[in-house]
This record gives sequence, structure tokens and C-alpha cells, in this order.
Amino acid sequence: MSRSLPVVPAALLATALTFTLTSCTDEGAGPGTVGTRGTAGLGDPYFPKLGNGGYDVTHYALTLDVDIERGKDRDDHEDHVDGKAVVTARAKQDLSAFDLDLKGMDVESVTVDGAEARWKRKGQELIVRPAHALEKGRTFRTTVRYSGEPRRITDPDGSHEGWLPTADGALALGEPTGSMAWFPGNHHPSDKATYDITVTVPQRLQAVSNGELRRESTKDGRTTFVWRSAEPMASYLAALGIGAYEIRRPAVGEKKPPVYIAVDPEEAEGSREVLDEIPDIIDWAEINFGPYPFSSTGAIVEREEDVEYALETQNRPVVPGAPDTGLLVHELAHQW
Ligand SMILES: [Zn+2]
Repeated sequence: MSRSLPVVPAALLATALTFTLTSCTDEGAGPGTVGTRGTAGLGDPYFPKLGNGGYDVTHYALTLDVDIERGKDRDDHEDHVDGKAVVTARAKQDLSAFDLDLKGMDVESVTVDGAEARWKRKGQELIVRPAHALEKGRTFRTTVRYSGEPRRITDPDGSHEGWLPTADGALALGEPTGSMAWFPGNHHPSDKATYDITVTVPQRLQAVSNGELRRESTKDGRTTFVWRSAEPMASYLAALGIGAYEIRRPAVGEKKPPVYIAVDPEEAEGSREVLDEIPDIIDWAEINFGPYPFSSTGAIVEREEDVEYALETQNRPVVPGAPDTGLLVHELAHQW
């Protein structure tokens, strides 16, 4: 993350991203596979309720149908998301129930391995009680159908995250807790997973996320973008940008990670030159930190007034307005 534009040494960045964890409370499973409920948090000293105990997520498949309504000014907006989240996870204990983190949105149904589950909500906890207890070691799939207007979250320091309406669309950012505003999950950075993020938006807009764009298709005035992150990602690094972006895919060498850049049209001209430096920055960073850890890179450039800070969202950092080289180096260095 960056608010001003200092170049911070990578070692310091790594320290800043280290979260202290205490071990999860394991109350011990009952007889057979009766199990107990996983804890409602992971005991993070700063965010005790963030994340959930008793399971490890391996994959998120998110399917989001998004409508963007904009009035005359930016405070006059109404966005609607119809979402389906399929969360694949492995039980770390016998589980009679477990929690997902979700803030706002209306939950319509929850199933576990296809069977309807009981569920209730308590603050940011979506408590799921599957029809049958889950044995330790078992991989299970939870499907949550939900809808509503995702929330913008104001942090204690006054900054904003979650779902941020922009001049022409929206930007979903998650440091430190905002991802729970747009999808249910185990939202502690210690539980990394792979992602498929499929987003359908009005045809005039683009949807950009992490990883690689696998497919883009338009039907009946709406365009679907299918993004895949095959490399594990902490949920706070998941990003979704929706807007009338100019898309740039500069040519790179054969063995180089492909570059996908989404730029707000108002920032396109002013940022072209610096964004062309991305392949060189990756080369420079590889010499210093080792091989680039992901399959693609790029950036999402929003208008300065649309986002208050830059964030190292995986593969594709978000920056407010045309960045300078220092800021781009900072956010790309986070990728290691
Ligand atoms: Zn940073």
C-alpha cells in the first residue's frame, strides 16, 4: 500500500505485512464426526474476528453479475451485485459448523457439497451448519448465493475500502478487511487460495481482476470477463475494477510475464510512458529479488479522486492517477 510516494525497501514491506497469529482454539471433536464449530476468528491481535478457524480454503470460484447505476455526481450511485461464491476448503478438525466472513449483502442460500445448510448471520460472521458434520481432512465445497449493494467500509484511520464507487464504475479493494464486502470467505491473509473470478457487466464497461483473463464474451448487451489466479492469493489482495478502461497489453519478450493494464481514459495519456516501464521494472526486480512469482503483471489506474491510495493487489497493483516510477516500483516490489 502507498499513500504518499516513498520507495520502501522490500525487507520493510515484508515486515509490515507480517501478521501475528495465535494458534486456533481446537475444542476437540466429539464422538464420530459430530465435531465442533470452527472458531469465529483466528485470534489476530488487530482483527480478532478476521478469518475463521477449522478449515483452510484452497479455491474460490466467484461469479458476479454487476449493475452500475450512476447519477449526476459520484455520491449518487446504486450498484447491485448478484453473487455466487463456491468456496472449496479442507477441514482441519471435525466440523459441526464453521464461519465465513461477509459484511453486508443479503444471503439467499448456502449449500455444503450440494446439500442445503442451515445458516445465520452475526455481525461479519456467516455461520454455516452443514446437514452432516465434516470429518477432519475432508475437502468440502460451500456455495453461497447472495445479492445486494456492496458496502464501502470506512477504516478507523478514515480510509476507505470494500466497494468503492468510481466516476464510471466501481473498485473493490480489501486491505485489511474490505474483501468481505464483496464475497464470503476466510478473510485472513494467512489463508491463501486460488481464484476464478467471473464478472458480468454492462457492455460499455470492462471488468479487470487478478491473474489472467481467460475469456471475454458479450451477449445481450452484457460482457462477461473470466479471470483466473492459479497462484495462491491472500484475500485482501483480490481486486475488482469495473470501468470504461482503456486496455493496454504491451508486447513483451517470450519468457516474460504478459502485461495487462486497465487505465481510466482520463489518466491514459498522462500515464502511458511510465506504464511502459513495467517490463523493465520486473527485470530490475528479478535481479534483486529472484524470479517473478506470478504468471502475469500489469496495473489498474483509476482517477486520483476515485481512490485514496495505491495497493499491491496481486499481479496488478491499483494506483490513483498516473503513477511515477517510484510508486510503480513500490507496488510491483510487493509482488515478491
Ligand atoms: Zn506498500
